[in-house]
Amino acid sequence: MRLYFVLLIGFLLTSLPLSSEKYPTGLFVSPVNRQIKLSGTFGELRSNHFHAGLDIKSARGVIGDTIYAAAAGYVSRISVNAFGYGNAIFVDHPNGFTTVYGHLDRFAPIFQQYVKDEQYRQQEFQVDLYPAPFQFPVEQLTQIGILGNTGHSYGPHLHFEVRHTDTQVPVNPLLFGFDITDQVPPTIQQLIAYQYDDAGQLIQTTVLQPKLRSPGVYGMDQPFQIGVSRVTFGVRTCDYQDGQDNQNGIYSLQCMADDEPSFAFAMDEIAFQDTRYINAHIDYQQKLYQNRFFHRCYALEGNKLPIYFRGIDQGMIYLNSELPRNISIAIADFNGNLSTINFQVVKNSNLFPTSALMPPFELLAVPDEVTILTKPGIQIVWPKGSFYQREPLTLTPMTGSAKSYFSPKYEISPSDIPVHFYFDIAIDGSLIPARLQEKAFIARFNGNGSYVNCGGTLVGNTISTSARQMGTYGIMIDTIPPTISAYKFSPVMSTWRKMAFKIYDNLSARDKAKDLRFSAWVDGQWILMSLDGKTGVLTHEFDGHIGPGTHQLIVKVWDDRNNEGVLQKSFTL
Ligand SMILES: [Zn+2]
Repeated sequence: MRLYFVLLIGFLLTSLPLSSEKYPTGLFVSPVNRQIKLSGTFGELRSNHFHAGLDIKSARGVIGDTIYAAAAGYVSRISVNAFGYGNAIFVDHPNGFTTVYGHLDRFAPIFQQYVKDEQYRQQEFQVDLYPAPFQFPVEQLTQIGILGNTGHSYGPHLHFEVRHTDTQVPVNPLLFGFDITDQVPPTIQQLIAYQYDDAGQLIQTTVLQPKLRSPGVYGMDQPFQIGVSRVTFGVRTCDYQDGQDNQNGIYSLQCMADDEPSFAFAMDEIAFQDTRYINAHIDYQQKLYQNRFFHRCYALEGNKLPIYFRGIDQGMIYLNSELPRNISIAIADFNGNLSTINFQVVKNSNLFPTSALMPPFELLAVPDEVTILTKPGIQIVWPKGSFYQREPLTLTPMTGSAKSYFSPKYEISPSDIPVHFYFDIAIDGSLIPARLQEKAFIARFNGNGSYVNCGGTLVGNTISTSARQMGTYGIMIDTIPPTISAYKFSPVMSTWRKMAFKIYDNLSARDKAKDLRFSAWVDGQWILMSLDGKTGVLTHEFDGHIGPGTHQLIVKVWDDRNNEGVLQKSFTL
């Protein structure tokens, strides 16, 4: 079994355009200059993406570990962002790979000075800088920054990636031979079985609880009986490293039916342009309603991820007689620790379920076609490839009291299915008064009546935007400016190292709506304020840009609809 598994994964690797020889081992060393302990693995299942790198734990759970270049090369990019990677540094290596170090608290002094000079030159906190090749050469283990918690990070750690320099496609860093202590096999938490009728329509879903027999060996007490002749499975699973309590992602999975491989994957490379296929890879509704990630052992029709071995009909398992089929699902971590679950599935015609009726719908969307839904006052256009399977769509204008400010609300259903690409929403905006045209936008409503701003551009009488989520949309206006409040501030700050303010807006920006923009000036001169996107805290460090004396501070913040919030203060340094 183990051998077969290794053989199949070997087949997967050689079938990829890059063979394992293309991942040189021993070239990169640990960027924390000690053994790596992981709080996240490559390919781990996250919201709308596969994790593109390793999350490396800090030594003591706090900000401050020194981060080192994993190999010699030069700094090719430095970016500063209130969200995403936060403070990130990119190093290009002569072997054709780039290493990325994200969520840094700060950069090493030489890079920090370069960044700050550029921020003052551009008068922007968020910068994305591409120094000239060899402007900043580094040796292996050159100190490049300090481990932090900036950007989309919820606890101090280093986000470490290895990418192909030419394509920027992320590669599993563990392929380069980092030493990870792990002898613990993955944990199989739950199985899910999808049962289809002979037309291929999903008619029943069953969650199954595997039994742990011995380390790495799972089974079920009885054969799993179904009333139909087509079935696929999904697995909820995680992996632990020796002595660590972090639930990490697995490396590979292989599903066999009677010793024939039906489906497999390994997390070696996933391009950013493909990462949203996670919503087809997982059971989207289990994620939405239960916050549980199941790997499907089956590729949905519109799932174009290139990581799969796809058996007969993308991994569909057929039961054509009353004979049981032996299912074996093997799951491995990167170190080759293996867990398997073996069970039988058998057809019992007495169990034939009443076919689930497809709800009424207006249009059956097909993965490889453009889909257009039109009603008086609204048009929605989904590009080819937006859906992963046939989806019964309906567009319902809501009338009566269920109106938004300047249009009906329109429900695009089902609201709980994934959409791969941005789709266009155009709504008739002829009811928007001329004086409010700048303030109108397309809102997406949550179940509780609250809503988010999805942006919008008014051309003629039509307001349009793009979104990637089904749901209820309508036209709203926003005339409320963002607020700015003192957070760390005093009229006299001679001994202070920094001052800070909190910014807040009444609406959150999604899809094509812009995040809050801000600027600050002291005595009419622009000053640098750093934004933490998670908390909305703006911080200015007193670094000599403001001399001793009494000063006038102005902070301005703008939301997506250009509503302006202003704070004015005087202070003495
Ligand atoms: Zn990460």
